[in-house]
Order: sequence, then structure tokens, then C-alpha cells
Amino acid sequence: MHFDDTPQEAEFRAKARAWLDANAKKRDPSQNLPNPLGEREDDAAVAAAKAWQATKFDAGWAVLTWPEEFGGQGLGRMEQVIWNQEETRYDTPPNIYTIGHGMLGPTIMAHGSDAQKTRYLRDMARGQEIWCQLFSEPDAGSDLAGLRTSAVKDGDEWVINGQKIWSTGAHFSDWGMIVTRTDPNVVKHAGLTYFIVDMRSPGVEARPIRQINGGSGFNEVFFTDVRVPDSNRLGAVGDGWRVAITTLMNERVAIGGGSSAGTLRNLFKLARDTRVKGQPAIQDSAVRQQLAEFYVKAKGLQYTSYRTLSALLRGTTPGPEGSIGKAVGAPLGQQMASFALDLQGPFAAVSDEAHGVDDGLWQDLYLGIPGMRIAGGTDEILKNIIAERVLGLPPEVRVDKDKAFREIPTGTQK
Ligand SMILES: Cc1cc2nc3c(=O)[nH]c(=O)nc-3n(C[C@H](O)[C@H](O)[C@H](O)COP(=O)(O)OP(=O)(O)OC[C@H]3O[C@@H](n4cnc5c(N)ncnc54)[C@H](O)[C@@H]3O)c2cc1C
Repeated sequence: MHFDDTPQEAEFRAKARAWLDANAKKRDPSQNLPNPLGEREDDAAVAAAKAWQATKFDAGWAVLTWPEEFGGQGLGRMEQVIWNQEETRYDTPPNIYTIGHGMLGPTIMAHGSDAQKTRYLRDMARGQEIWCQLFSEPDAGSDLAGLRTSAVKDGDEWVINGQKIWSTGAHFSDWGMIVTRTDPNVVKHAGLTYFIVDMRSPGVEARPIRQINGGSGFNEVFFTDVRVPDSNRLGAVGDGWRVAITTLMNERVAIGGGSSAGTLRNLFKLARDTRVKGQPAIQDSAVRQQLAEFYVKAKGLQYTSYRTLSALLRGTTPGPEGSIGKAVGAPLGQQMASFALDLQGPFAAVSDEAHGVDDGLWQDLYLGIPGMRIAGGTDEILKNIIAERVLGLPPEVRVDKDKAFREIPTGTQK
């Protein structure tokens, strides 16, 4: 991979920069980069995100890699990377579209009918309709195919009952993509069907979950006799697992490993600003050694992510490096946040934005980042993938593989 822009890429970058200069405020480069986990998404933040997305869309800077017929620009991944690099240099509202644009839009493109593509994709691209992913349940996360929310056919409609959980942004979403069980008499992967559900339908109730950092980014969502028209089914009845895999493959790429570069830059700034034994902490040899270790790991991750990008640019599917990015990146972020709190000494106990060091950025990161070790595949699941698919180790024993779903014992059975 070449690291310098080609003349065409340089021209695209200059155009993007000129538009951003005219439409957004540049960040002060001497200040911290924002928390990579995002900001709290209150009503004002959602309204600001919608306004910014509409401005970008109307000027031709939204969903750059999507085909033009769905509101995109038909550009390559490299242009999207360049745009992202440039947009980060400006003070813009939080991105609430990773799930919709990165995961659900591509799923509709792959499995939707022409009518579904026309109805949903352009509005999703412009960002005025927000989407959430309704996959996980209290008893089905890593083992997603064990989900129990049911959908039963009634005329031209389906009736959905059950509960989802950890549904990011469901409390401000207009639409959700839900996987349901439509046939418990076949093996667990075979009895699933995928639907688009209007989050304002009678019987849908989203209850935000309060997190340890004080935010409420995700929800429990309850479905009680929710009626969904058959025209909202995505893919064939019983083919929900194949459709869900498309969403999950896109999820790996969309959330990636999370960038450690911004956190590392913030950490170096903290080490320069903090005084230990009368001198800047960055002059302490133990601090320097730890920073050097973080730097080496972060660089390793950066170049590994370039391997993924190269694979995508060549049109091939990224290999195991997709799992390595998050398996290494999320723990690294947690270690850096923990070290930042060590550097702060007793001030680490102050998480309040108004009084904490760096406006409480490190406390927020320290409390929020364990979620990144769970979301989109836990550390253990990623290690299983690496063990089985990369190292060729024997697969886990899966005792329920050939059983009809209704025969799999549950905790509630005697
Ligand atoms: C910040 C955040 C946002 C999320 N957003 C969404 C969302 O928008 N939509 C959605 O549907 N879901 C979402 N999730 C849910 C997420 O996908 C699940 O939490 C995740 O898949 C893990 O499932 P679980 O929580 O049920 O844990 P479990 O699967 O019950 O796992 C519990 C523990 O057992 C371990 N374990 C499980 N199976 C194995 C195994 N086979 N081998 C070894 N160890 C194992 C796990 O690693 C974990 O430590 C989100 C989660 C987080 C943290």
C-alpha cells in the first residue's frame, strides 16, 4: 500500500477541505481530540447530527461509497477514508449513523426488494430517519442464533412478541432491523426471519439503560403484539440468519478496531501537562517507557488496519486482521485510560466535566471502554474466531448443532 495521496486523491482531499472550511469550524489542534466512544446523545445532539447530515447530503458529501441511485456518490473506499480524516479535523456533531449507514443500509442493498430500496435508502442516507439494530436478547448475544423473540404470520402481517436488549439509539430511532424466530421446529439457525420494524408501531417500548458513565446510549426494547406488514420482511421466511450475517460482516468493518491514535495523542498531551515530582510527567523514565509501549502497539494496529483497507481496495474480503483490530485495540484503549488515571493521582476521582482533568475525558473513557470489549463480538468470541479460522485449532463443541430449536434445554425447563 502507498501512503501518499495519488494526484487524484490529493485533488479530492483539497476539495473536501475547502468545503469543510466553508461549512464547519476547525478544531483547535492544541486541544484534546474528542472521546472516541462519542458524546452523550441528548435531543440537542441528535438534532445537530441530523442538521449536519442533511447539509453534507445536499452538498454531495454523504455516504460516499453508496451507489448514486440510493443517494450516495459511487466513490471508492479510499475517498471515504480521506473524507473521514478531513472531517475529524473539524468540530462536527456526533456521528449517530454508524449502524444505519455502515450496517443496515448495505443489508437492504444486498437483500431488499426494489420497493424497499426506494422507500428507505435515500432517507437513511440524508439522515432524517434514524435506524437501530435489534439483534441481541437477554439470553442471546454471542449465541445470537439462540434468540427467542417470535414472529407469527397473521394474514398479510406478522405479530412480534419478545424482548431485545443493548439496542443502541433505539430511543431516538425511527426504524429498526429485527431478527425473529418464525419456526422453532428446525435447527436454531434455520428458523429465523428478518424484518424492518417501525419503532413507533403500537406495542414497541424502548427503555433506556443507565450506564456506569452516566450516559444512556442503549436500551431494552419490548415487543408486545407488534404488527409488521409482510412487505417489511427482508429476505425469505427462514432465511434470516443469512441476512443477519450480511449485517454482522458489515459491522466488523463499520466499527473496526476503533482508532487508538487520538487517545494516544491525548495521552502524550496529558503526560506533558501533568507534573510529577516537580517536573512534567513525560520526563519520568517509567512514564516514557509506558508511553513507548502504547505507541508501538498503536502503530502496529494502524498498519494492521491498512492491511484491511488494502484488502478492501483490491475488492477482496478482509482476513483475520478484522478480528485482531478490535481484540487488541479495545484492551489497549482501556490500558491507556487506566494509565491516564494513574497519572492524575487523587484527581482521578473527579469525573465531573466542569472540574475534572481534561474535562473528565479520561474518566468517561475508562468507564465506557469496557463496552467496546463486548460490543460487536466479545474478546473471547474474537479469540475463538482467531483460534478456529486463523490458527486452525479444533472448533468448540456445539451440542445444539443438529437439534430442533424447541428441543434445546433452557434454564427455565425442569
Ligand atoms: C456498547 C454496546 C452497544 C451494543 N449495541 C447493540 C445494538 O445496537 N444492537 C444489538 O443487537 N446488540 C448490541 N450490543 C450487544 C452486543 O452485541 C452483545 O453484548 C454481545 O454480542 C455479547 O453478548 P451478551 O452481552 O449476551 O454476552 P454473552 O454472550 O452472554 O457472554 C457473556 C460472557 O461469556 C463469554 N462467552 C460467551 N460465549 C462464549 C464462547 N463460546 N466461548 C468463550 N466465551 C464465551 C463472553 O465472552 C462474555 O464474557 C451492544 C453491546 C454493547 C456493549
